[in-house]
Amino acid sequence: MITVEEAIEAILQEIRPLGLESVGIHDALGRALGEDVAAQRSNPPWDNSAMDGYALRSADVAGASKDAPASLKVVYDLPAGGVPKAAVGPGEAVRIMTGAPVPPGADAVVMVEETEAGNGTVAIKKAARPGENIRRSGEDFRAGDIVLKKGAVIRAAEVAMLATVGAPCVFVHKRPRVAVISTGDELAEIERTPGAGKISNSNGHALAALVAEAGATPVQLGIARDTKESLKERLEAARSCDCIISSGGVSVGDYDFVKDVLAEMGSRMLFWKVAMKPGKPLAFGVIAGVPAFGLPGNPISSMVAFEQFVRPAILKMSGHNAIVRARLDARLLAEVKIKPGRTNFLRGLLKIEAEGLTVAPLEGQGSGIISTMVASNCFIVVPKDSAGFKRDAAVKVQPFDPSVFLKEYGG
Ligand code: AMP
Ligand code: MG
Repeated sequence: MITVEEAIEAILQEIRPLGLESVGIHDALGRALGEDVAAQRSNPPWDNSAMDGYALRSADVAGASKDAPASLKVVYDLPAGGVPKAAVGPGEAVRIMTGAPVPPGADAVVMVEETEAGNGTVAIKKAARPGENIRRSGEDFRAGDIVLKKGAVIRAAEVAMLATVGAPCVFVHKRPRVAVISTGDELAEIERTPGAGKISNSNGHALAALVAEAGATPVQLGIARDTKESLKERLEAARSCDCIISSGGVSVGDYDFVKDVLAEMGSRMLFWKVAMKPGKPLAFGVIAGVPAFGLPGNPISSMVAFEQFVRPAILKMSGHNAIVRARLDARLLAEVKIKPGRTNFLRGLLKIEAEGLTVAPLEGQGSGIISTMVASNCFIVVPKDSAGFKRDAAVKVQPFDPSVFLKEYGG
Protein backbone atom coordinates (compact mmCIF):
# COMPACT_ATOMS: atom_id res chain seq x y z
CA MET A 1 0.00 0.00 0.00
CA ILE A 2 1.44 3.38 -0.93
CA THR A 3 1.96 6.17 1.59
CA VAL A 4 0.25 9.54 1.66
CA GLU A 5 3.44 11.17 0.41
CA GLU A 6 3.80 8.70 -2.47
CA ALA A 7 0.15 9.17 -3.39
CA ILE A 8 0.35 12.95 -3.54
CA GLU A 9 3.55 12.72 -5.59
CA ALA A 10 1.92 10.29 -8.05
CA ILE A 11 -1.18 12.49 -8.39
CA LEU A 12 0.69 15.74 -8.95
CA GLN A 13 2.82 14.08 -11.65
CA GLU A 14 -0.38 13.65 -13.65
CA ILE A 15 -1.75 17.19 -13.22
CA ARG A 16 -1.06 20.07 -15.60
CA PRO A 17 -2.25 23.66 -15.17
CA LEU A 18 -5.26 24.48 -17.33
CA GLY A 19 -5.11 27.09 -20.08
CA LEU A 20 -5.58 30.82 -19.64
CA GLU A 21 -8.50 33.17 -20.14
CA SER A 22 -8.78 36.92 -20.00
CA VAL A 23 -11.11 38.17 -17.28
CA GLY A 24 -12.00 41.48 -15.66
CA ILE A 25 -10.02 42.03 -12.49
CA HIS A 26 -13.05 41.41 -10.27
CA ASP A 27 -13.42 37.93 -11.71
CA ALA A 28 -9.73 37.34 -11.13
CA LEU A 29 -10.04 37.23 -7.34
CA GLY A 30 -8.49 34.05 -5.92
CA ARG A 31 -7.12 32.97 -9.30
CA ALA A 32 -3.53 32.57 -10.44
CA LEU A 33 -2.03 35.01 -12.93
CA GLY A 34 -1.06 33.41 -16.20
CA GLU A 35 1.38 36.14 -17.24
CA ASP A 36 3.81 38.67 -15.81
CA VAL A 37 2.17 42.08 -15.58
CA ALA A 38 4.25 45.13 -16.47
CA ALA A 39 3.23 48.62 -15.38
CA GLN A 40 1.97 50.80 -18.22
CA ARG A 41 2.75 53.85 -16.10
CA SER A 42 4.70 54.88 -13.02
CA ASN A 43 3.15 55.20 -9.59
CA PRO A 44 2.81 57.89 -8.51
CA PRO A 45 2.64 59.23 -12.07
CA TRP A 46 4.08 62.60 -10.95
CA ASP A 47 5.41 64.21 -7.78
CA ASN A 48 2.36 64.95 -5.65
CA SER A 49 1.43 66.29 -2.28
CA ALA A 50 1.11 63.91 0.68
CA MET A 51 -0.79 66.55 2.70
CA ASP A 52 -3.35 69.30 2.49
CA GLY A 53 -1.25 72.44 2.87
CA TYR A 54 0.96 74.83 0.93
CA ALA A 55 3.46 74.03 -1.80
CA LEU A 56 6.41 76.39 -1.53
CA ARG A 57 10.13 76.88 -1.92
CA SER A 58 11.89 75.54 1.17
CA ALA A 59 14.47 78.34 0.92
CA ASP A 60 11.65 80.87 1.50
CA VAL A 61 10.76 79.39 4.90
CA ALA A 62 14.26 78.64 6.24
CA GLY A 63 14.25 79.65 9.91
CA ALA A 64 10.47 80.13 10.06
CA SER A 65 8.87 79.27 13.42
CA LYS A 66 5.70 79.86 15.43
CA ASP A 67 7.15 83.06 16.80
CA ALA A 68 8.69 84.21 13.52
CA PRO A 69 6.47 82.89 10.70
CA ALA A 70 7.35 83.47 7.05
CA SER A 71 4.65 85.27 5.05
CA LEU A 72 4.09 84.08 1.48
CA LYS A 73 1.72 85.20 -1.25
CA VAL A 74 -0.89 82.55 -2.17
CA VAL A 75 -1.01 82.53 -5.97
CA TYR A 76 -3.69 79.91 -6.63
CA ASP A 77 -5.54 76.84 -5.28
CA LEU A 78 -4.67 73.36 -6.54
CA PRO A 79 -7.24 70.65 -5.72
CA ALA A 80 -6.66 66.90 -6.26
CA GLY A 81 -7.36 66.24 -9.93
CA GLY A 82 -6.21 69.76 -10.91
CA VAL A 83 -3.08 70.74 -12.81
CA PRO A 84 -0.64 73.52 -11.82
CA LYS A 85 -1.46 76.84 -13.50
CA ALA A 86 2.00 78.30 -13.06
CA ALA A 87 5.33 77.75 -11.37
CA VAL A 88 5.79 78.86 -7.77
CA GLY A 89 8.08 81.87 -7.69
CA PRO A 90 10.15 83.25 -4.79
CA GLY A 91 7.92 84.44 -1.95
CA GLU A 92 4.96 82.53 -3.35
CA ALA A 93 2.91 79.52 -2.22
CA VAL A 94 0.14 77.41 -3.75
CA ARG A 95 -2.73 76.13 -1.59
CA ILE A 96 -2.51 72.39 -2.42
CA MET A 97 -4.63 69.34 -1.58
CA THR A 98 -3.45 65.76 -0.99
CA GLY A 99 -2.76 64.00 -4.27
CA ALA A 100 -2.46 67.14 -6.40
CA PRO A 101 0.69 67.48 -8.55
CA VAL A 102 3.43 69.56 -6.96
CA PRO A 103 3.76 72.70 -9.08
CA PRO A 104 7.11 73.49 -10.72
CA GLY A 105 9.33 75.64 -8.55
CA ALA A 106 8.00 74.23 -5.27
CA ASP A 107 10.18 71.70 -3.46
CA ALA A 108 8.18 71.14 -0.26
CA VAL A 109 4.68 71.11 1.16
CA VAL A 110 3.91 72.43 4.64
CA MET A 111 0.79 70.93 6.13
CA VAL A 112 -2.13 73.23 6.76
CA GLU A 113 -1.96 72.71 10.55
CA GLU A 114 1.44 74.51 10.56
CA THR A 115 0.09 77.59 8.77
CA GLU A 116 -2.34 80.45 9.20
CA ALA A 117 -4.22 81.81 6.21
CA GLY A 118 -4.35 85.60 5.73
CA ASN A 119 -5.91 87.74 3.02
CA GLY A 120 -4.19 86.44 -0.13
CA THR A 121 -1.25 85.41 2.02
CA VAL A 122 -0.27 82.60 4.34
CA ALA A 123 1.90 82.59 7.45
CA ILE A 124 4.15 79.51 7.49
CA LYS A 125 5.06 78.66 11.07
CA LYS A 126 7.85 76.14 10.48
CA ALA A 127 10.84 75.52 8.27
CA ALA A 128 10.58 72.78 5.61
CA ARG A 129 13.12 70.24 4.40
CA PRO A 130 13.44 70.02 0.62
CA GLY A 131 11.16 67.16 -0.46
CA GLU A 132 9.04 67.31 2.71
CA ASN A 133 5.51 65.91 2.21
CA ILE A 134 6.15 65.20 -1.46
CA ARG A 135 5.44 61.72 -2.82
CA ARG A 136 7.95 61.20 -5.61
CA SER A 137 7.01 60.07 -9.09
CA GLY A 138 7.81 56.35 -9.43
CA GLU A 139 8.57 55.79 -5.73
CA ASP A 140 6.16 52.81 -5.78
CA PHE A 141 7.10 51.48 -9.23
CA ARG A 142 8.12 52.77 -12.64
CA ALA A 143 6.58 52.30 -16.07
CA GLY A 144 7.87 49.01 -17.51
CA ASP A 145 8.54 47.39 -14.11
CA ILE A 146 7.14 43.85 -13.65
CA VAL A 147 4.75 44.52 -10.78
CA LEU A 148 3.06 41.10 -10.60
CA LYS A 149 4.65 37.78 -11.47
CA LYS A 150 3.07 34.89 -13.34
CA GLY A 151 1.54 32.53 -10.79
CA ALA A 152 0.66 35.28 -8.29
CA VAL A 153 -2.71 34.67 -6.66
CA ILE A 154 -5.03 37.63 -7.00
CA ARG A 155 -6.06 39.12 -3.66
CA ALA A 156 -7.37 42.62 -2.99
CA ALA A 157 -3.80 44.00 -3.04
CA GLU A 158 -3.21 42.53 -6.53
CA VAL A 159 -6.56 43.97 -7.69
CA ALA A 160 -5.33 47.38 -6.44
CA MET A 161 -2.10 46.89 -8.37
CA LEU A 162 -3.85 45.85 -11.60
CA ALA A 163 -6.25 48.79 -11.37
CA THR A 164 -3.34 51.18 -10.74
CA VAL A 165 -1.16 50.01 -13.62
CA GLY A 166 -4.00 50.21 -16.11
CA ALA A 167 -4.86 46.52 -16.52
CA PRO A 168 -8.67 46.23 -16.30
CA CYS A 169 -8.44 42.70 -17.71
CA VAL A 170 -5.84 40.07 -17.03
CA PHE A 171 -4.95 36.55 -18.13
CA VAL A 172 -5.59 33.99 -15.38
CA HIS A 173 -5.80 30.20 -15.36
CA LYS A 174 -9.23 28.78 -16.12
CA ARG A 175 -11.28 27.51 -13.22
CA PRO A 176 -11.36 23.71 -13.30
CA ARG A 177 -14.83 22.20 -13.75
CA VAL A 178 -14.98 19.32 -11.31
CA ALA A 179 -17.61 16.59 -11.63
CA VAL A 180 -18.99 15.29 -8.35
CA ILE A 181 -20.65 11.86 -8.34
CA SER A 182 -22.07 10.13 -5.27
CA THR A 183 -22.49 6.37 -5.36
CA GLY A 184 -24.73 4.15 -3.27
CA ASP A 185 -28.15 2.49 -3.34
CA GLU A 186 -28.67 3.79 0.19
CA LEU A 187 -28.46 7.43 -0.83
CA ALA A 188 -31.47 9.73 -1.03
CA GLU A 189 -31.62 13.25 -2.47
CA ILE A 190 -31.57 15.79 0.35
CA GLU A 191 -34.92 17.33 -0.61
CA ARG A 192 -36.71 14.16 0.53
CA THR A 193 -36.97 12.42 3.90
CA PRO A 194 -34.95 9.24 3.42
CA GLY A 195 -37.06 6.08 3.29
CA ALA A 196 -36.33 2.84 5.15
CA GLY A 197 -32.67 1.86 4.88
CA LYS A 198 -31.75 5.13 3.16
CA ILE A 199 -29.59 8.10 4.25
CA SER A 200 -29.14 11.58 2.85
CA ASN A 201 -26.42 12.09 0.28
CA SER A 202 -24.11 14.30 2.29
CA ASN A 203 -20.87 13.67 0.41
CA GLY A 204 -22.09 15.05 -2.88
CA HIS A 205 -22.85 18.38 -1.27
CA ALA A 206 -19.82 18.49 1.03
CA LEU A 207 -17.49 17.71 -1.88
CA ALA A 208 -19.15 20.33 -4.08
CA ALA A 209 -18.60 22.84 -1.26
CA LEU A 210 -14.94 21.83 -1.00
CA VAL A 211 -14.53 22.17 -4.77
CA ALA A 212 -16.02 25.67 -4.66
CA GLU A 213 -13.85 26.57 -1.68
CA ALA A 214 -10.80 25.50 -3.69
CA GLY A 215 -11.81 28.02 -6.38
CA ALA A 216 -13.11 25.49 -8.91
CA THR A 217 -16.61 25.00 -10.31
CA PRO A 218 -18.48 21.94 -9.03
CA VAL A 219 -20.61 20.09 -11.56
CA GLN A 220 -23.07 18.04 -9.50
CA LEU A 221 -23.88 14.80 -11.26
CA GLY A 222 -26.08 13.38 -8.53
CA ILE A 223 -26.31 9.80 -7.32
CA ALA A 224 -25.14 6.71 -9.19
CA ARG A 225 -26.75 3.45 -8.16
CA ASP A 226 -24.60 0.49 -7.17
CA THR A 227 -24.59 -1.06 -10.63
CA LYS A 228 -21.86 -0.89 -13.22
CA GLU A 229 -24.31 0.56 -15.75
CA SER A 230 -25.43 3.42 -13.52
CA LEU A 231 -21.86 4.25 -12.58
CA LYS A 232 -20.67 4.12 -16.17
CA GLU A 233 -23.45 6.45 -17.23
CA ARG A 234 -22.48 9.09 -14.61
CA LEU A 235 -18.77 8.74 -15.32
CA GLU A 236 -19.42 9.18 -19.06
CA ALA A 237 -21.30 12.40 -18.27
CA ALA A 238 -18.33 13.51 -16.18
CA ARG A 239 -15.71 13.10 -18.92
CA SER A 240 -16.16 16.59 -20.31
CA CYS A 241 -15.02 18.04 -16.97
CA ASP A 242 -11.40 18.79 -16.03
CA CYS A 243 -11.48 16.47 -13.03
CA ILE A 244 -13.81 13.79 -11.68
CA ILE A 245 -14.53 12.94 -8.07
CA SER A 246 -16.79 10.17 -6.89
CA SER A 247 -17.45 9.02 -3.35
CA GLY A 248 -18.21 5.53 -2.14
CA GLY A 249 -17.91 2.18 -3.88
CA VAL A 250 -14.10 1.95 -3.77
CA SER A 251 -13.85 -0.57 -0.98
CA VAL A 252 -13.97 -4.37 -1.15
CA GLY A 253 -17.74 -4.73 -0.74
CA ASP A 254 -19.84 -6.72 -3.21
CA TYR A 255 -21.14 -3.54 -4.82
CA ASP A 256 -17.92 -1.53 -4.90
CA PHE A 257 -17.52 -1.08 -8.65
CA VAL A 258 -15.80 2.28 -8.99
CA LYS A 259 -12.30 1.04 -9.76
CA ASP A 260 -13.56 -1.71 -12.09
CA VAL A 261 -15.70 0.71 -14.04
CA LEU A 262 -12.93 3.30 -14.23
CA ALA A 263 -10.60 0.61 -15.55
CA GLU A 264 -13.21 -0.66 -18.04
CA MET A 265 -13.60 2.89 -19.32
CA GLY A 266 -9.89 2.94 -20.15
CA SER A 267 -8.62 4.68 -17.06
CA ARG A 268 -4.97 4.21 -16.25
CA MET A 269 -5.21 3.26 -12.55
CA LEU A 270 -2.32 4.52 -10.42
CA PHE A 271 -3.48 3.22 -7.03
CA TRP A 272 -6.60 2.25 -5.10
CA LYS A 273 -5.46 2.23 -1.48
CA VAL A 274 -3.44 4.66 0.59
CA ALA A 275 -1.93 4.01 4.03
CA MET A 276 -3.97 6.62 5.82
CA LYS A 277 -6.77 6.85 8.34
CA PRO A 278 -9.50 7.75 7.79
CA GLY A 279 -9.81 6.97 4.12
CA LYS A 280 -7.72 3.96 3.17
CA PRO A 281 -9.69 2.98 0.03
CA LEU A 282 -8.94 5.69 -2.48
CA ALA A 283 -8.68 5.11 -6.20
CA PHE A 284 -6.82 7.41 -8.55
CA GLY A 285 -6.78 7.03 -12.29
CA VAL A 286 -6.56 9.10 -15.44
CA ILE A 287 -9.17 8.70 -18.18
CA ALA A 288 -8.04 10.27 -21.44
CA GLY A 289 -6.12 12.95 -19.58
CA VAL A 290 -8.84 13.63 -17.01
CA PRO A 291 -7.82 12.81 -13.43
CA ALA A 292 -10.44 10.76 -11.58
CA PHE A 293 -10.53 10.35 -7.81
CA GLY A 294 -12.59 7.52 -6.33
CA LEU A 295 -12.89 8.83 -2.78
CA PRO A 296 -14.08 6.65 0.08
CA GLY A 297 -17.74 6.75 1.06
CA ASN A 298 -17.55 7.55 4.73
CA PRO A 299 -18.23 11.26 5.05
CA ILE A 300 -15.10 12.18 7.01
CA SER A 301 -12.89 9.91 4.90
CA SER A 302 -14.05 11.63 1.73
CA MET A 303 -13.40 15.09 3.16
CA VAL A 304 -9.96 14.12 4.51
CA ALA A 305 -9.03 12.57 1.17
CA PHE A 306 -10.22 15.69 -0.61
CA GLU A 307 -8.07 17.87 1.64
CA GLN A 308 -4.96 15.75 1.20
CA PHE A 309 -5.19 14.93 -2.52
CA VAL A 310 -7.94 16.65 -4.46
CA ARG A 311 -7.37 20.21 -3.24
CA PRO A 312 -3.67 20.18 -4.24
CA ALA A 313 -4.65 18.74 -7.63
CA ILE A 314 -7.30 21.42 -8.19
CA LEU A 315 -4.92 24.17 -7.12
CA LYS A 316 -2.18 22.86 -9.42
CA MET A 317 -4.69 22.74 -12.29
CA SER A 318 -5.61 26.31 -11.43
CA GLY A 319 -2.00 27.42 -11.86
CA HIS A 320 -1.24 27.98 -8.19
CA ASN A 321 2.24 27.33 -6.82
CA ALA A 322 1.29 27.00 -3.13
CA ILE A 323 -1.00 23.97 -3.20
CA VAL A 324 -0.69 21.93 -0.02
CA ARG A 325 -1.84 22.84 3.46
CA ALA A 326 1.03 24.06 5.60
CA ARG A 327 1.87 21.96 8.65
CA LEU A 328 2.41 24.01 11.79
CA ASP A 329 3.73 23.03 15.20
CA ALA A 330 1.23 23.07 18.05
CA ARG A 331 1.26 21.87 21.65
CA LEU A 332 -1.00 18.86 22.09
CA LEU A 333 -3.47 19.27 24.96
CA ALA A 334 -4.24 15.56 25.52
CA GLU A 335 -2.55 12.24 24.94
CA VAL A 336 -3.22 10.50 21.61
CA LYS A 337 -2.80 6.74 21.09
CA ILE A 338 -2.74 5.29 17.59
CA LYS A 339 -2.17 1.92 16.00
CA PRO A 340 0.91 2.51 13.82
CA GLY A 341 1.01 1.67 10.11
CA ARG A 342 -1.05 4.44 8.51
CA THR A 343 -0.81 8.24 8.57
CA ASN A 344 -3.65 9.42 10.80
CA PHE A 345 -5.47 12.68 10.32
CA LEU A 346 -7.23 13.43 13.60
CA ARG A 347 -9.72 16.19 13.89
CA GLY A 348 -8.51 18.83 16.32
CA LEU A 349 -9.35 22.23 17.66
CA LEU A 350 -6.47 24.61 17.13
CA LYS A 351 -6.18 27.78 19.18
CA ILE A 352 -3.82 30.71 18.99
CA GLU A 353 -2.75 31.34 22.57
CA ALA A 354 -0.25 33.85 23.97
CA GLU A 355 2.31 30.99 24.26
CA GLY A 356 1.74 29.92 20.63
CA LEU A 357 -0.51 27.30 19.03
CA THR A 358 -2.30 24.64 21.07
CA VAL A 359 -4.41 21.81 19.71
CA ALA A 360 -7.02 19.65 21.42
CA PRO A 361 -7.72 16.26 19.81
CA LEU A 362 -11.50 15.87 19.71
CA GLU A 363 -13.55 12.93 21.00
CA GLY A 364 -15.31 10.90 18.30
CA GLN A 365 -12.77 10.24 15.55
CA GLY A 366 -14.97 7.71 13.68
CA SER A 367 -15.06 8.22 9.92
CA GLY A 368 -18.81 8.87 10.00
CA ILE A 369 -18.85 11.40 12.85
CA ILE A 370 -19.76 14.64 11.11
CA SER A 371 -20.29 16.49 14.40
CA THR A 372 -16.56 16.18 15.19
CA MET A 373 -15.70 17.56 11.77
CA VAL A 374 -18.03 20.49 12.48
CA ALA A 375 -16.30 21.11 15.82
CA SER A 376 -12.79 20.98 14.37
CA ASN A 377 -10.62 23.46 12.52
CA CYS A 378 -7.49 21.41 11.81
CA PHE A 379 -6.10 17.96 11.27
CA ILE A 380 -3.49 16.65 13.66
CA VAL A 381 -1.08 14.67 11.51
CA VAL A 382 0.16 11.50 13.17
CA PRO A 383 2.97 10.04 11.02
CA LYS A 384 2.58 6.52 9.65
CA ASP A 385 4.89 4.76 12.07
CA SER A 386 3.98 6.71 15.16
CA ALA A 387 1.97 5.18 18.02
CA GLY A 388 0.77 8.63 19.06
CA PHE A 389 1.90 11.41 21.33
CA LYS A 390 2.01 12.27 25.01
CA ARG A 391 0.23 15.34 26.28
CA ASP A 392 2.24 18.55 25.68
CA ALA A 393 4.12 17.02 22.73
CA ALA A 394 4.83 19.27 19.76
CA VAL A 395 2.66 17.93 16.92
CA LYS A 396 2.07 18.96 13.32
CA VAL A 397 -1.33 20.40 12.50
CA GLN A 398 -2.92 21.38 9.21
CA PRO A 399 -5.40 24.20 9.80
CA PHE A 400 -8.20 24.10 7.23
CA ASP A 401 -10.43 26.84 8.55
CA PRO A 402 -9.28 30.44 7.95
CA SER A 403 -11.48 31.64 10.80
CA VAL A 404 -8.85 30.28 13.19
CA PHE A 405 -7.26 33.68 12.61
CA LEU A 406 -10.41 35.54 13.71
CA LYS A 407 -11.85 36.02 17.18
CA GLU A 408 -14.95 37.50 18.69
CA TYR A 409 -14.80 41.27 19.12
CA GLY A 410 -13.55 42.01 22.62
CA GLY A 411 -12.98 38.27 23.22
P1 AMP B 1 -18.94 2.63 0.66
O1 AMP B 1 -17.50 3.00 0.54
O2 AMP B 1 -19.70 2.88 -0.57
O3 AMP B 1 -19.10 1.26 1.20
O4 AMP B 1 -19.52 3.61 1.76
C1 AMP B 1 -19.00 3.62 3.06
C2 AMP B 1 -19.95 4.31 4.00
O5 AMP B 1 -20.15 5.65 3.59
C3 AMP B 1 -21.34 3.71 4.04
O6 AMP B 1 -21.82 3.73 5.35
C4 AMP B 1 -22.15 4.61 3.15
O7 AMP B 1 -23.51 4.61 3.46
C5 AMP B 1 -21.53 5.94 3.42
N1 AMP B 1 -21.69 6.84 2.26
C6 AMP B 1 -21.32 6.55 1.00
N2 AMP B 1 -21.65 7.55 0.18
C7 AMP B 1 -22.21 8.50 0.95
C8 AMP B 1 -22.75 9.79 0.67
N3 AMP B 1 -22.75 10.29 -0.56
N4 AMP B 1 -23.24 10.50 1.70
C9 AMP B 1 -23.24 9.98 2.95
N5 AMP B 1 -22.74 8.80 3.27
C10 AMP B 1 -22.23 8.04 2.29
MG1 MG C 1 -21.42 2.20 -1.33
